[in-house]
Amino acid sequence: MVRKINISILLILFILSSFSSFAAETEITYSKTLQQIYNSKNVYTDTQTRLNELNKNYSNITYLFTAGKSVQNRDLTVLKVGKGPKKIFINASHHPREYMGTILTLNQAQYILEAYSNNKIIDGCNIKQLLDNEVSFYFMPLVNPDGVQICVNGSPAYYFNANKVDLNHNCAADWTKRITSTYSTGTSPFSEPETKAVKYLCETVEFDLTIAYHAAGDIIYWYYGQQGAAKTRDLAYANILKDTTGYSLVSTSNYKSSTSGFKDWCVQTLKIPSFTIEIGGKRGITKPIEWSLYNSIWEKNKLVPLRMSKQLLKQTQFNGDKKTALIYKNSLVHLSKDILKQDKKNYISVRDAKILTSNSITETQQYKLKMYSLTINNTYYIDIDYFKNIFNLKYTYDEFTNTIYLE
Ligand SMILES: [Zn+2]
Repeated sequence: MVRKINISILLILFILSSFSSFAAETEITYSKTLQQIYNSKNVYTDTQTRLNELNKNYSNITYLFTAGKSVQNRDLTVLKVGKGPKKIFINASHHPREYMGTILTLNQAQYILEAYSNNKIIDGCNIKQLLDNEVSFYFMPLVNPDGVQICVNGSPAYYFNANKVDLNHNCAADWTKRITSTYSTGTSPFSEPETKAVKYLCETVEFDLTIAYHAAGDIIYWYYGQQGAAKTRDLAYANILKDTTGYSLVSTSNYKSSTSGFKDWCVQTLKIPSFTIEIGGKRGITKPIEWSLYNSIWEKNKLVPLRMSKQLLKQTQFNGDKKTALIYKNSLVHLSKDILKQDKKNYISVRDAKILTSNSITETQQYKLKMYSLTINNTYYIDIDYFKNIFNLKYTYDEFTNTIYLE
């Protein structure tokens, strides 16, 4: 009898434990909380750590890479979340003292990744379907890591990069040179390594939409001279942002009173919907926003990436053909020729193969490359698997987005 009870208890315990393991969500602990990162003297390192932790915990759907280096040689890190062909770029901290946006974008990435791994539906949106097939988010929480480090180490009002240039007045959108003690556009458009890296990233990945987080004001900038269909398209996004955040839209009149911003360049040159969102209250700021406001900022902005995705997927007219992006650890390059598919094999042009390995190509590799290449439509191609073997590379090829990921 005693034995029978014991077995029943064990059985009940087993059922209970298997039940709870079904219901339990994956709990991931991070080395620092978001609040600790915000209050840190080393926001850069702590942000890097958090991005690495996210990438490690959700490696089946993320990809971490560096878009370039800052003036003081810090990495300009990007976390790609999702595998879909539509691409949304969300960045923060062009202006150091506004680095609450860094925390917000880290949180947005985490929120989406947790929902993905727990197979959740949020705001009517199946996150697994979204990230597997429809959208990729590119989060760049620190556009200006040097400036943020200067800000948190004794200069709370700091507004520039390490060259004392305002990165949000350094883009090629009606840029004019103006340098005073409190204002600096830089010596030429995209003169700074940070803006150069962001420009290259945008041109290479070909985003469908961008968002830049700033502070403060509780306002949304969306206009820079769009006309006709582009204006209608972008106003629709802006209104969704307004409804989601409760922030107001900045008037379209006198839009050229401020020029050479990142959003201005995206709208004018890339011709994509692009938004500057000013979080943190109806006011300007001269030092970082107090942490106590974070929860309300989070509540207003947590659905922003998903709401933008939904609208993007409704948009029937896209921004032309996407080029093939070839992404690898420390940089990002376009292929000059698309990947060619023949007899269930994928071929890369020899020219592109050489570009990728230009720094390390030996004579033997050169010889093998020649030996295994074949001519298709007057271009030399090599089977990606041969290419991988010759250069001893690991890669994954995503046919859906026509992108190679090298390790
Ligand atoms: Zn700003």
